[in-house]
Amino acid sequence: MARTVLQQADIIRALTRISHEILESNRGSENLVILGIPTRGVALARRIADTIAQIEPTAAPVAVGTLDVTMYRDDLSHTRTRTPAPTYVPGSVDGKTVVLVDDVLFSGRTIRSALDALGDHGRPRAVRLAVLVDRGHRELPIRADFVGKNLPSSTDERINVHLVETDGDEFVSIESV
Ligand code: 5GP
Ligand code: MG
Repeated sequence: MARTVLQQADIIRALTRISHEILESNRGSENLVILGIPTRGVALARRIADTIAQIEPTAAPVAVGTLDVTMYRDDLSHTRTRTPAPTYVPGSVDGKTVVLVDDVLFSGRTIRSALDALGDHGRPRAVRLAVLVDRGHRELPIRADFVGKNLPSSTDERINVHLVETDGDEFVSIESV
């Protein structure tokens, strides 16, 4: 049975907070590039960019894009069945602060791959990580800078993330599998 941990209002609140935190640490929205990791990271990245635009309406719109990491995984057998999503990096990332966005942070291997993929697009000044859920169980020295919810989980649990854009409804739940 799945237990709901975040409802839609909680998700919206967490993304609003993360948007403020990004603006605070970057001292504004200048030189920011927000890149979502498919699938749900892309929807989250767009929402964060939209929220930043609402918070700072006079600033130039923040660049937002997609970073597919499928071909950079070091455990490809695990993802072989996935079709790569197109990568779209808006403009140059050279000298910019790139914020990677994903729905769930687990072993850290996806983010390690994202750093590899990003390396093909230039040399950012800094790379930060925003995730909706950190479920623990890291296998690499990777941490998130902006976290919607820390959700300590057991390895035989699964976190369900539903977003309006990708699933038609919106919640985060945890369930035993
Ligand atoms: P990692 O590479 O850190 O092991 O796993 C993170 C990636 O796998 C993310 O892109 C995330 O979408 C997916 N993922 C890993 N564990 C879960 C989970 O429990 N629930 C969901 N929804 N995605 C997960
Ligand atoms: Mg994912």
